[in-house]
Amino acid sequence: METHGGDPLMSGFEDHEDFGFETRAIRAGQPHDSRTGGVVTPISLSTTFAQDAVGKPKFGYEYARTGNPTRHAYETCLASLECAQYGFAFSSGMAAEDSLLRFLQPGDKIILGNDAYGGSFRLIDKIYGQNKISNEAIDLSDPNSLRETWTNETKIVWLETPTNPLLNVVDIQKISDITHELGGLLIVDNTFATPYLQKPITLGADAVVHSATKYLGGHSDVVGGFVATNNEKLVEHLSFTQNAVGAVPSPFDCYLVLRGIKTLAVRMDRHCENAKTVVSMLSEHPKVKQVFYPGIESNKGHEIAVSQMSNFGGMVSFTVSGGLAMAEKVAASTKVFTLAESLGAVESLIEHPGVMTHASVAGSALEVPEDLIRISVGIESIEDLVGDLEQALAI
Ligand code: PLP
Repeated sequence: METHGGDPLMSGFEDHEDFGFETRAIRAGQPHDSRTGGVVTPISLSTTFAQDAVGKPKFGYEYARTGNPTRHAYETCLASLECAQYGFAFSSGMAAEDSLLRFLQPGDKIILGNDAYGGSFRLIDKIYGQNKISNEAIDLSDPNSLRETWTNETKIVWLETPTNPLLNVVDIQKISDITHELGGLLIVDNTFATPYLQKPITLGADAVVHSATKYLGGHSDVVGGFVATNNEKLVEHLSFTQNAVGAVPSPFDCYLVLRGIKTLAVRMDRHCENAKTVVSMLSEHPKVKQVFYPGIESNKGHEIAVSQMSNFGGMVSFTVSGGLAMAEKVAASTKVFTLAESLGAVESLIEHPGVMTHASVAGSALEVPEDLIRISVGIESIEDLVGDLEQALAI
């Protein structure tokens, strides 16, 4: 990755592409500090950097909005994990999405899945819609619907898989092939799977976006966003936009996400293991109507999940008998699962998408069932998690 000149004082471990995922998570972009031998990337707070001569910065850094050593380490590391040459960090997932979409022009059209994060739909529909950029939400699990919906104005397909909140799985390679045949770009939101479980760029995606607030940070203590890409036009656009708009993360935020990424693999293994046990319990429970999880063999999309993911993740959704009232009651009755928005951290969370995270899609093609509960299964003791859901469902 070479978004900036690099820092010779932090040199070493340049050949990170040759190492495995867990090694790169810990070392890529994070060489030992040659001044001190420190093994942890410093939080570089300087907003400006000395120059040897006019226009000749000592180490490639000029001004911290444009580039910062802590951000550079984080961008190099996560780009490497996503199998991308370039990575761009932003102050939130929404800032990342907005910076990416800004190359669109009035008259252009975005096709997105009809099951996606409500905030992404709000940005595309309400903000980009105002600028005469239209959108159409379709069922991307049926790749043929893409051909039927395509018009000359379509520039982007926006894909989430597994989706938030219904955990639908979409065939990235198939959608990529059709999108490219028709002349568009495929953007994949990889927040739920993370690069540990799924690498969309290797399946044809032109760019991957993240809410780094979730599994990448992993500890509910930092808001962040990221775009990884190998597409030269997007690299040019993002290099310019990241600096021109300036929705960049602070050095401390970069440090926190980088720190989180070091344990991503082991955390994801435990999230997946715990989620599997929780799914087994919910699937047998008399008050649970349906469980949504890509690991369930009978679930639509399971075969695709097996082919494009290495495991099924820590997010689970389910509907309960008793409608909205029962769903709200269960979500408010857990003790180990905290009733809160967000997901992907070490602690388990429970929420009601219809009223909470997905309230902004009410009345649209993305509206979610009112008896739906979404859980983010954390890495606590599994017997506590299962027991907590059992007692909440018994109320
Ligand atoms: N994409 C997905 C799948 C999300 O779940 C979220 C937030 O919940 C976002 C993007 C937006 O990210 P952020 O909240 O970091 O702005």
